Amino acid sequence: MKRIGVYTSGGDAPGMNAAIRAVVRVSIAQNLEVYGITAGYLGMLENEMNPLQLRDMANIIQRGGTILKTARSTEMMKPEGRTKAATNLKNLGIDALVCIGGDGSFRGAHALWEEHQIPIVGVPGTIDNDIFGSDKTIGFDTAVNTALEAIDRIRDTAASHDRLFIVEVMGRNSGFIASYVGLAGGAEEIFTPENVASVDKSIERIKESIRRGKTSSILITAEGQKPGRAYDLADAIRKKSGMDAKVCILGHQQRGGSPTAADRILASRMGAAAVDALMHGQCDIMIGTEGERLVQVPLDLVTKNEKKTQMDLLSLASVLAT
Ligand code: ATP
Repeated sequence: MKRIGVYTSGGDAPGMNAAIRAVVRVSIAQNLEVYGITAGYLGMLENEMNPLQLRDMANIIQRGGTILKTARSTEMMKPEGRTKAATNLKNLGIDALVCIGGDGSFRGAHALWEEHQIPIVGVPGTIDNDIFGSDKTIGFDTAVNTALEAIDRIRDTAASHDRLFIVEVMGRNSGFIASYVGLAGGAEEIFTPENVASVDKSIERIKESIRRGKTSSILITAEGQKPGRAYDLADAIRKKSGMDAKVCILGHQQRGGSPTAADRILASRMGAAAVDALMHGQCDIMIGTEGERLVQVPLDLVTKNEKKTQMDLLSLASVLAT
């Protein structure tokens, strides 16, 4: 192995730059050449691949987003697209890849290995934390802290006006951000895609808390498949109870911002471990975490299994918000 390629794919996540930096600097320390592939699979298909040097990695560890850009590509979902990408990689002499992204990106990576024997190691980068085989993904900690900061501010105004707020956080298919933010922010109710709490029950809980002397409440909802869901919830609560609920949708600000120390450290360790794994002849795996420990998980397992939100966090949040 002489030359490796690195790319970011799927949704961007704070800390991706720290992972790229680790891949590039560890590779160069091992006398490998590194190519940065622009905009994930799109760059592979359009031959947007360029050598990266040590100094290209200067001043990026603290930056959100991804300097390599990211994109979604439908062409890569087809065998012909993957053949084209593999041919382009081989023509450039790229022997192996590090893919930083989510489970869709890993499906593409697994297919490139199965169909074209291009060795790939995955690094989980997504704010959603929904990757099977890793306790934590790069970007999750930053997104949770960004949302939490917003919720703390909302709590100030909610308390001043005795208001009910519904705050919508990201998470299409998973409720990790909602459950962490809900627990850390002292939310009265948490709605996640896996746990669609009943509106009637929530109204009952809010009324009960008012009887106990509470004057303001915050409900957290994951966006689910339909962003803007918080408005539907507010409507339902208004219609059923007459209570007025203010809505705040946090949206894409959760994707950006400077990564937290935890994300920078996770990304640096995972990026380095990915290069190390390739150097030892391992591939078709993802670097994950089990507690503080880094682990290697076959991509096949990662892409075929679903990671579930910890329901105990929801019940704990519910008890603590009384
Ligand atoms: P996030 O979780 O942040 O959305 P992701 O990696 O899951 O990240 P996707 O949009 O699902 O994001 O996938 C990124 C890209 O990976 C897709 O645009 C596509 O090019 C490729 N990809 C996804 N699924 C497959 C698949 N089954 N086969 C081949 N390539 C795929």
